[in-house]
Amino acid sequence: MLSDPAIDLCRRYTGETWAGAKERLGQLPQDSPLIPAAQGDQAFLEAQMLRALLEHPTTYTTRPLRIMRVIPYATRPVIRFAADADPDGLADLIAWGVFSTGGRDDLRGIRGLRIIDAGHGRIDVGLLGSDARLRLEGIPEAAWRDAEARRHQTALRFGEVPPFRYQGPTPGEHAFALEHGWLEEAWKEVSGLGSALLRRLLIFRSGADWLDMAGFTKHVSTYGFRLTFAESHWTDHDTLIEHLTHPVCGLALKEDMRTCACAFGERSCRIWFDGPEQAAGRLDLQLVTDQEDCEIAEYNQALTYAGSPHEEIMRVTGRPSGAAVVCAPGCHGRHGKVAFLRRMNEGRRREHA
Ligand SMILES: [Zn+2]
Ligand SMILES: [Zn+2]
Repeated sequence: MLSDPAIDLCRRYTGETWAGAKERLGQLPQDSPLIPAAQGDQAFLEAQMLRALLEHPTTYTTRPLRIMRVIPYATRPVIRFAADADPDGLADLIAWGVFSTGGRDDLRGIRGLRIIDAGHGRIDVGLLGSDARLRLEGIPEAAWRDAEARRHQTALRFGEVPPFRYQGPTPGEHAFALEHGWLEEAWKEVSGLGSALLRRLLIFRSGADWLDMAGFTKHVSTYGFRLTFAESHWTDHDTLIEHLTHPVCGLALKEDMRTCACAFGERSCRIWFDGPEQAAGRLDLQLVTDQEDCEIAEYNQALTYAGSPHEEIMRVTGRPSGAAVVCAPGCHGRHGKVAFLRRMNEGRRREHA
């Protein structure tokens, strides 16, 4: 019998609604893990999605990689994005960051990713030549239409083929496969870990009060997260590691604490994890602090500008959203985050005009 605490626990990892989690968990076969693992091509697609999202710059948002929830169905899971105040930015992230961008030596995006179906506020994507599927939700239709149209125009200009609905590999994807086939093989080997992390992405939010999360990947096999904390909201590593390795919802990661300096009173470190026995790959977790009050206030303003929910901003900065930046004596005074976001938005608007 499914208990309420089990539902609450699971939701910390997936971000599902209470009713949604209750229904999904109620349908799981007996003895199934609360967060089922994907297999084969499905795991590969999910890991590639995580890789693409980590590689696309996504900061100044209280949602990890702009994701609100991941509903971890064994097949065709759902990723719900938050458009917040910038739906065009989200559509750009999907159109340019997730779909392949074409060239022979271009590592960005997911080769063979195609739109299978699209409806109100959702895009169903799949991998060519497989049954692997993902549903992407929360991307406003108008923003998506626009982003897709701009990619078509760019492709025309450079004599390329936009991948979205193309039958078979695009010439760019084909050339990439010939040149870098080994890379895809290496990505496949670590796809179990990538998929498992994507299915638990929200624990990075509910388990740690960071100001900002940046993603990266390294050496084909490593998924990286860099968390920046306000000094007053530092989340102890052990707490986060406990969540990540939780016996019911977590992963059997093996930690390597040699690069952690926290025992010496430092608050900036890096912890490596090896994937569980059955899942090769590594997780590179970096935790740093921002100590100046005015820098934290600046994050607060950037998050407010980007439309993060007020309660989240309060939770991670300790101040109501939009709080003023008052520089400490001796501060360099270069606070350009909001101006940077504004320039990006203006640039995007000009492109749309
Ligand atoms: Zn440490
Ligand atoms: Zn300052």
